[in-house]
Amino acid sequence: MTAIVWFRQDLRLSDNAALYHACRAAGQVIPLFIHDPTPTTVSQLGAASSVWLHHSLQALDTDLQAVGNRLVLRQGEALPILQALIAATGATRVYWNRVYDPASLSRDTQIKAALRQVCEVHSFNASLLKEPWEVLKSDGTPYKVFTPYWKAMLKSGIQRLPLPSPPHIPAPTVPVASESLESFGLLPRIRWDTPMMAHWQVGETAALQRLLDFLPDSGADYKDARNFPAQPATSRLSPHLHFGEISPQQAVYHTEHFLTQHPGAESGLRHFMQEIGWREFSYYLLCHFPQTIDQALDVRFRQFPWAENTAELLERWKRGQTGFPIVDAGMRELWHTGWMHNRVRMIVASFLTKNLLIPWQAGENWFRDTLVDTDLASNVFGWQWTAGCGADAAPYFRIFNPILQSQKFDAAGDYIRRWVPELPCSSPIVDLKASRERALERFKRIAGSGTV
Ligand SMILES: Cc1cc2nc3c(=O)[nH]c(=O)nc-3n(C[C@H](O)[C@H](O)[C@H](O)COP(=O)(O)OP(=O)(O)OC[C@H]3O[C@@H](n4cnc5c(N)ncnc54)[C@H](O)[C@@H]3O)c2cc1C
Repeated sequence: MTAIVWFRQDLRLSDNAALYHACRAAGQVIPLFIHDPTPTTVSQLGAASSVWLHHSLQALDTDLQAVGNRLVLRQGEALPILQALIAATGATRVYWNRVYDPASLSRDTQIKAALRQVCEVHSFNASLLKEPWEVLKSDGTPYKVFTPYWKAMLKSGIQRLPLPSPPHIPAPTVPVASESLESFGLLPRIRWDTPMMAHWQVGETAALQRLLDFLPDSGADYKDARNFPAQPATSRLSPHLHFGEISPQQAVYHTEHFLTQHPGAESGLRHFMQEIGWREFSYYLLCHFPQTIDQALDVRFRQFPWAENTAELLERWKRGQTGFPIVDAGMRELWHTGWMHNRVRMIVASFLTKNLLIPWQAGENWFRDTLVDTDLASNVFGWQWTAGCGADAAPYFRIFNPILQSQKFDAAGDYIRRWVPELPCSSPIVDLKASRERALERFKRIAGSGTV
């Protein structure tokens, strides 16, 4: 029996439920990746994430070759490609792991219904600790506040043994043609990506190694040190988690295992697992409130009086030329490495949405294009949280003061000097006090109009 395993955001061999079950059931396995132009998370990849995907597919193919198989690449709409491959190979089963953004969920439901006319389809959860519909309040509605949500998650148990990587993945006896990775056009013509990718190792092996290095190096101090952007105190697992080079289950499992031998790291690593919980929560919210992709969850903000004629200010923010060193450092770290420290993400997002009064969607778009860890759920959630219009969001009046933030979290100026060597930088593009008051005044205008 021949089975197709359709890889999507699960670019790994271990703890991959679809692959694992296909290998147990089938004598021949066709590992497939489709570069699909229909509007799903994968096709909406920004420039930096596209580069990551290129390398991640390359790494997956190398790993598959080491166990006797190879990755088949196809480009186009998923359903006709799957149908043609089933017809050409006589495959009787298709396996995949679910992707949870709303567009992919509805596309996959249609694909499943169509394919079930001709073969079996098996889908699994391999990228979340729990299915979003499994965790609900006692009245059957979804949580909107993180703490009770995470308590319910912990109570129901988040740890399980990761599935092993198949030692051998039997290839089809008649080889299946593949398009070339280069034909996907994921790499830019002008190779701006080379210095960015020098900061990263891509693929499943690198992802696990990053976790295994992080646990002893930074686990014990994570809770406090994670706020200081000059320190390499966080895991930098976000792009690996996004592309599924490692699963959150594997992260939890290895962390728990490490804790059995290093109980002193308990407080730091419980906090780390809670951050994985925030990732989970952002998927949960997007799944239950799909309209929040581009609209504020708090409906009052859908009428927010944003500033007008802000094109020049937005450009200065993108280029890291606002005249506020920590904001400029963050935006330049993003441009050069495809990643930005979480504290600085909050600072630059607050600055854009509150001091410049530019809609959060403009910032979300820029992040989407420039982050290697672009993740629809976490990005939308992070922006709405900072703008004060999402679930369990920071209260609107919490406007980060970029000067106080750098005094507190980059007191010696190491982070700022690393990214803004020309200090003192250009003159500030906005007056902090006046812009803060303007934001609060605008918020008052919408404050009484009721929430969701
Ligand atoms: C405005 C804004 C936009 C963001 N956009 C994204 C995005 O597109 N993709 C993305 O993965 N994260 C995003 N985040 C969340 C967070 O900044 C990153 O996940 C984190 O900085 C990644 O670094 P790390 O892997 O070293 O994190 P660690 O501190 O090591 O945390 C471990 C993992 O937990 C998850 N995590 C940590 N913090 C958060 C959080 N606040 N929300 C959701 N998940 C979290 C990530 O998967 C991360 O890899 C955003 C945050 C903000 C404020």
